[in-house]
Amino acid sequence: MSAGPPILGAERLTLGYGGAAVVHDVTFGVTEGGVGLIGESGSGKTTIARALLGLLTPLGGEVRYGGQNLKYADKRAFRRDVQPVFQAESLDPRMRVGRSIAEGLPRSERSRVPELMEQVGLDPSLARRRPHELSGGQRQRVVIARALAVRPRLLILDEPTSALDVTVQAKILDLLAGLATERLLISHNLAVVARLCRTSHVLFAGRVVESGPTRELLERPAHPYTRALRDAVPKIGGRPPVATGVEARPAETGCPYRLRCPLTVPECAERPPLRDLEGPGGRQVACHRAEDQLSL
Ligand code: ADP
Repeated sequence: MSAGPPILGAERLTLGYGGAAVVHDVTFGVTEGGVGLIGESGSGKTTIARALLGLLTPLGGEVRYGGQNLKYADKRAFRRDVQPVFQAESLDPRMRVGRSIAEGLPRSERSRVPELMEQVGLDPSLARRRPHELSGGQRQRVVIARALAVRPRLLILDEPTSALDVTVQAKILDLLAGLATERLLISHNLAVVARLCRTSHVLFAGRVVESGPTRELLERPAHPYTRALRDAVPKIGGRPPVATGVEARPAETGCPYRLRCPLTVPECAERPPLRDLEGPGGRQVACHRAEDQLSL
């Protein structure tokens, strides 16, 4: 375990748009070994990432950076330390990729572009190409090189491989796993997160429903939703699970997952708090029936 404080953290973070909350009371730190935020589309992952990047003002709680509220932190240091890695489509289609990579660098350091390209497994001769002249995997490598250029401490990766086919995806995951830079990864896919993150937080309808070591979440899910996510996306290349019909919506009172849950009991009309499962400091789960789920 890491001894130091997390580089970045969410402290009782409540987030939303137009005053309406879509993320409720979320707390976690980005600790050593990578941290994953897992959940289906609409669960609030990108909203949390935007707040952690300082792009969205919290309705409640705070983003912590360097031991203080991000509001009061040194913004220049923050913008260097914490780099987003978006999907490859975010590249400017008109710009040669070498220039895209160099964009955030001071002039004196632009000569580092070939070295950065090699670091992400790209032939430096590709620097003069434009994004459409590269493959999807190569474009994703450009986006990663661009983020690494300023020597960040932390990468925030939002579904960095979901647009790629399975073999390319695996190669990009290998590349990311080999980087020394710390990471927060957002994904619907537990298998992808397991590859890159020691710790994970599972989100359902804007709330953390389970937290803990990623491997344990995969092997012994304690929340029925974690289990459903695991069973729906067994492989790296899996597509996001899409729930339909009435069950797709979270319940407005009680446990938000109860309309979909196979283990519902009358007690679930009361929302279960996030609680320690196997002693403090370990796994946390927000489910009245976690012990039953574990013994299934
Ligand atoms: P995820 O990244 O897990 O797919 P999001 O954070 O994008 O989830 O979305 C969480 C919720 O916030 C969803 O209900 C979504 O409709 C809503 N939302 C996202 N962006 C906006 C926005 N710009 N304005 C209003 N609602 C939004």
